[in-house]
Amino acid sequence: MTYDLIIRNARLRHRQANVDIGITKGVIRKIAKKITDRGRRVVRAGGRLVTESFVNPHLHLDKVYTLEMQDSTALEAYRGGTMGAAMKAIEAAARVKETYDERWILANVRRALRLAVRFGNTHIRAFADVDSKARLIGVKALLKAREEFKGTVDVQVVAFPQDGVVREPGTADLIRQAMDLGADVVGGIPWIEYTDRDAQRHIDEMFDIAKAYDADVSMLLDDAGDPGLRTLEMLAVKAIDEGWIGRCLAHHARAMSLYPEPYFRKICALLDKAGMGVITDPHTGPLHARVKELISAGVLVALGQDDIADAYYPFGRNNMLEVGFLAVHMLWMTTPAEMETIYDMITVDAARAMNISRFEIKTGSPAHLVVLDAASVYEALWSHAAPLHVISHGQLLDSEALPGAKGRSR
Ligand SMILES: [Zn+2]
Repeated sequence: MTYDLIIRNARLRHRQANVDIGITKGVIRKIAKKITDRGRRVVRAGGRLVTESFVNPHLHLDKVYTLEMQDSTALEAYRGGTMGAAMKAIEAAARVKETYDERWILANVRRALRLAVRFGNTHIRAFADVDSKARLIGVKALLKAREEFKGTVDVQVVAFPQDGVVREPGTADLIRQAMDLGADVVGGIPWIEYTDRDAQRHIDEMFDIAKAYDADVSMLLDDAGDPGLRTLEMLAVKAIDEGWIGRCLAHHARAMSLYPEPYFRKICALLDKAGMGVITDPHTGPLHARVKELISAGVLVALGQDDIADAYYPFGRNNMLEVGFLAVHMLWMTTPAEMETIYDMITVDAARAMNISRFEIKTGSPAHLVVLDAASVYEALWSHAAPLHVISHGQLLDSEALPGAKGRSR
């Protein structure tokens, strides 16, 4: 028989001997020491590391490249001190939405997704602001991009009420409309409401929508320097009460770093019971979730890019190896075993968090792979260079052939 694609002499993470990988119709059909059959296309890995492609479970994709459209008020407020002014940052950053227009958003989104292809980031959970200013403009742009990049970068669109639900009357209706248009995931940011009662209402209203549309839930929780924030707990309890086990994700949860120890332990137990993972982005704020302790308590943790050149963070290239490299420093996970954990957090564990099934390199799994110019995870993180080859749904990708590729692609 002939395979569509064979990767020859690949080093895998959890295998001693190098292997050949045979792919047909998007699926890994054979992993063996030597495949004697032919391939219509052949990639010679030459003993280099071949792994699952990269997964980014947290990106504000409607806001990419908007930093230069505004002053640095939001940036200064968000990262200042112990994040006491995080709410002010969100209010300042909302100004850019007064100029929202699908055309420039879509151009920026394409630019960011082409970078994702270049850096082997094939699956993204993308947040689009939905509120009285952004209305459905960002969601529509992301839905369009999702279709354009289908089979190349799989985008899950989150309808995200960035400026609140109780604070912003009419937002719940807009979120419903976004789901009608085809958004995949219901978002939330309950900590931004003024009282715990309103935060609970925020969660309840978003949950009603998630249940009506049978959708997963992704919420930004306890994202300020206040140990008294309780929305991580509220969402975990809600998930347990509603039976939405494994279908809710917590993002940021930076206040966790200030929680008293007994409360933190209680939270770990609730997260475990709710099957709720935590997505952390330690490079985009001065506080971050307690990654090592969460992992040792059995909680699923993954890393996100969070922002690309917007009001909250000035860099970002959809390069999850770069995110991993930064996390190695921010989390002090510098031993070989810890670097393997970091690598899981930008590949297989991030995929689990996004409920992507059969993501691991196995016979019968869809082929989402990168061929790296590295012999090990350590080397890959060290150089955080673009992969030599990126394969999504069994296809070798070419970033020059993507929508809008004639523009610049920094
Ligand atoms: Zn974020």
